[in-house]
Amino acid sequence: MNLKVGDILRKLMALGTLATINQRLDTDTAILIANEFGFDAKLSSLYEEEDIQKDSTEDDKANLQPRSPIVTIMGHVDHGKTSLLDAIRHSNVIAGEAGGITQHIGAYRVKTSTGEITFLDTPGHEAFTAMRSRGAQATDIVILVVSAADGVMPQTIEAINHAKAANVPIIVAVNKIDLPTANPEKIRQEISNYGLLPEEWGGDTIMVDISAKQKMNIDSLLELVQLKAEMMELKANPNKHAEGIVIEAKLDPRRGAVATVLVQSGTLHIGDNLVVGTTFGKVRAMIDEYGKRFDKAIPSMPVEILGLNEPPQAGDKFVVLEHESQVREIANARKEKAKADALRPKQHVSLLDLNAGKAKHLKIILKTDVQGSLGALCDALERMSNSEINLEIIHKGAGSITESDVVLAAASDALIVGFNIRPDAAVEKLAETEGVSINVYRIIYDLIADIKAAMEGLLDPDTQEKITGKAVVKQVFKLSSAGTVAGCTVTEGKAQRNVKIRLLRDNVIIFEGNSSAIKRFKDDVKEVEKGYECGISLENFSDIKVSDVMEFFTIEKIARKLVNEN
Ligand code: GDP
Repeated sequence: MNLKVGDILRKLMALGTLATINQRLDTDTAILIANEFGFDAKLSSLYEEEDIQKDSTEDDKANLQPRSPIVTIMGHVDHGKTSLLDAIRHSNVIAGEAGGITQHIGAYRVKTSTGEITFLDTPGHEAFTAMRSRGAQATDIVILVVSAADGVMPQTIEAINHAKAANVPIIVAVNKIDLPTANPEKIRQEISNYGLLPEEWGGDTIMVDISAKQKMNIDSLLELVQLKAEMMELKANPNKHAEGIVIEAKLDPRRGAVATVLVQSGTLHIGDNLVVGTTFGKVRAMIDEYGKRFDKAIPSMPVEILGLNEPPQAGDKFVVLEHESQVREIANARKEKAKADALRPKQHVSLLDLNAGKAKHLKIILKTDVQGSLGALCDALERMSNSEINLEIIHKGAGSITESDVVLAAASDALIVGFNIRPDAAVEKLAETEGVSINVYRIIYDLIADIKAAMEGLLDPDTQEKITGKAVVKQVFKLSSAGTVAGCTVTEGKAQRNVKIRLLRDNVIIFEGNSSAIKRFKDDVKEVEKGYECGISLENFSDIKVSDVMEFFTIEKIARKLVNEN
């Protein structure tokens, strides 16, 4: 823009911001300042994944090829997630690798009769949603493990809601059917209460009875995963620079920074330059969990890579670029930005945003003290949805607000609403750093009223026009100093300077806008009453003729009330 720093700082000061030359401006301020100097600024970030220069034809349909599915196992504690991961690992080790020492790298592949499946080795919905809150989604299919002896438990429900919030399909593995107390039918009954209706009952949820311990039916489970994956038509283009995400990372005393990455598209090769979050490097080696070395990794393949500068974070995205200078530059720029961002609080949706009209889809996580109030509140809240604002309770439960709730809220941009409970200090702190809004209430009426008020703020207001005055043009003067001035008589109401004005000729609207001045004799006035004469000039309009009618009007915004449409 070719401006002097001093000029910008002065302008900032005029806008009420005291800034120094080294300070980063937030985007709103930066755009505003550009405007102030007559520039039209558009936001475009240099260093985000989505803005790294890419050939847009690379992901054309014609270039896509099938890839294998990526699966996460979820479920209540002790229902057999780890046992299932082990059973799958041992019964279907990729040929030739059996007997080797396996090393936990965070993900592994197994072979089935119809292809490979990649399993993420950190079971549970916490890790899954933590990744998602960082913008990364790796999982295609969730296997929900439910113990046939214990039934649906709180974390089972959490897992269902976390998977649903991420739009990931669920396959239910009813585990421990070897136990005499197992009652798989009862599980189907229970789970159908949470929107997962078994296929055999006409629904679309695949349910399989298994025993992880006795390794029963593991193969059919895997076959069904493949079947589901086939229907989902999972595809990626393997013929381009690789992209993907970090599953795990650590600093190894001998090997340096080690990261397990999952290739999501393209092919990763030894020697590739990659930028990963705020770090970068060149791939020196790629190893799978059986210790086998590879020189390339195709989509859906997890590999441990060596050669990064420092360990990235789980959930970071990686991108391969042509030149080392590019990855270094981007990583360094991101690091600078991360430093600055750390000083600024994050912000997800809050009741205030709703009032400011930011979201028309309101997602809520509802936690209450007891089951009874949960049902009642849920009903009351869900009934408030209407055709303009969709209120969705993405997770609910009786019990305290947990860190997992906060992470889910952050990942899904939801609001946490608590009734008769308070978050503990650790949860409050996490909510603060994640920018998640928690609202707690002791009185149901207050809770409903607040949500209702927020939703009403979200409705577009009705507008209503009100004519406040009329004047008829008697004479037109063309003045060299003041442009065209119409000599008028006010015939109704008042002629007012600070309201909208419309010029009518034979009832046709010729002009609508503002007046630039209203004068009584030589003086500028704010308003002129009915029966008096005055001179009126219009802003940027001079084609006024005798007998034209000036209509003065205001537009009132009328806040709307929420109407129950059901
Ligand atoms: P996680 O907490 O969900 O990972 O559960 P684990 O895999 O650690 O299993 C919890 C307990 O259930 C362990 O004692 C397992 O041996 C047992 N278990 C897991 N699967 C089965 C099964 O199919 N049948 C029986 N009888 N026990 C099982």
